[in-house]
Amino acid sequence: MPELPEVETIRRALSEHLPGRSIVKIQVRDARLRWPVDETRLRQLLLAQAIVGVKRRAKYLIVEFEQDSCLILHLGMSGQLLFLTERQPFHKHDHVIFTFNDETQLRFRDPRRFGMVDASAPGRLREHPRLVNLGLEPLHRGTTFGKLHQRAATLQRPVKNLLMDAGFIVGVGNIYASEALFYAGIHPATPAAVLSETDWRTLLGEIRKVLRRAIRKGGTTLNDFVDSNGETGYFQLSLAVYGREGEGCQSCNTQIERLVQVGRSSFFCPSCQRPA
Ligand SMILES: [Zn+2]
Repeated sequence: MPELPEVETIRRALSEHLPGRSIVKIQVRDARLRWPVDETRLRQLLLAQAIVGVKRRAKYLIVEFEQDSCLILHLGMSGQLLFLTERQPFHKHDHVIFTFNDETQLRFRDPRRFGMVDASAPGRLREHPRLVNLGLEPLHRGTTFGKLHQRAATLQRPVKNLLMDAGFIVGVGNIYASEALFYAGIHPATPAAVLSETDWRTLLGEIRKVLRRAIRKGGTTLNDFVDSNGETGYFQLSLAVYGREGEGCQSCNTQIERLVQVGRSSFFCPSCQRPA
């Protein structure tokens, strides 16, 4: 499943291809994605306007148009975005095709069809049902450790679960959460309310580091063929604890342990990450 760093990498690639182009044709070959694709709505909101930029909110890609309407894309489990020309034959899972004014195309390919293709009317992006309840963006400057501390102050849930909750913070993902908690020296089962402002400062710093490292990796592995490989949501990061149960901690050599929290594996060093 594509994770935040991969989506951010794709956003950067799209930002190089799309601005200045406008859509002259929209074809929906299969509308049965996670939410049905509304072809009429896409046409009404997006045709014949220039694209001005590409943003990201959580794992949604947001293509902005000159009159302030937006195309909203989510890659789901196996979605890919391909930048091709009209001449290239359709692949059987090319479900939505946007043709630009210069015969190039953006194709939304998604074998498992858990992705999303939708549009928002001018000025209505924030109210979109998929975006309205999203939590803080880890890489935005406005997301401060003070804000996280304040919002977590009354929450007794384990910090690991909170990091995985998109209503609190978006795009951290299971592997990144384990890794950031290790580097911050925080046990994954620590009740969120117990963490001090200093803990949140350290933790937010480590979350950003692990995400940025993955984005840098992505930047070097993706070429100008805009692609998201459904198998490699986590690029080839070297991981300190994730997937290393029973191996020695890189810092103290204690055996890494695994813990299951809300159905997901957390990996931690019992010595570097003491329970609160
Ligand atoms: Zn250790």
